[in-house]
Amino acid sequence: MAADLQGGCACGAVRYQLGSPPMFVHCCHCRDCQRHTGSAFVLNALIEADRVTLLAGHPEPVPAPTPSGTPQQIYRCPSCRVALWSTYGGVQKLRFVRVGTLDDAATLKPGVHIYVRSKLPWITLPEGVPAFEAYYDSRKLWPAESLERRRAIFGEAPVTLK
Ligand SMILES: [Zn+2]
Ligand SMILES: [Zn+2]
Repeated sequence: MAADLQGGCACGAVRYQLGSPPMFVHCCHCRDCQRHTGSAFVLNALIEADRVTLLAGHPEPVPAPTPSGTPQQIYRCPSCRVALWSTYGGVQKLRFVRVGTLDDAATLKPGVHIYVRSKLPWITLPEGVPAFEAYYDSRKLWPAESLERRRAIFGEAPVTLK
């Protein structure tokens, strides 16, 4: 399966490979993500940084302000400036990979919809996928295996991850 999890930017200068499926996939409807993408929401695959292998190019971090004050670094292709992933709060071990940059973006589906309080009104959320007005408790939603992976990064402390 991992062989399918390749992606890249629009111009092809950056190519990457995910070493495994992500821990979880967020569909975030917050205003930050709408503004950053120019779209209705962002799709982020949460995965350990050491499972993201660069096959070509070197994305450059660009700091993006957020209302919470928690800095987000958006890693962009140095040529075409497409965003490939983000890190939040200086946590370098965890990447939020933009699912739309995968060669097969349909391969990873959201496990949760978050910040639906600012969801655009014409979007109908699918039945059966949890949705939250703001953030949620990953300990109640993630599969056990993913929580194990998460603990390897953060320990037991609850962490808010958009
Ligand atoms: Zn590019
Ligand atoms: Zn967001």
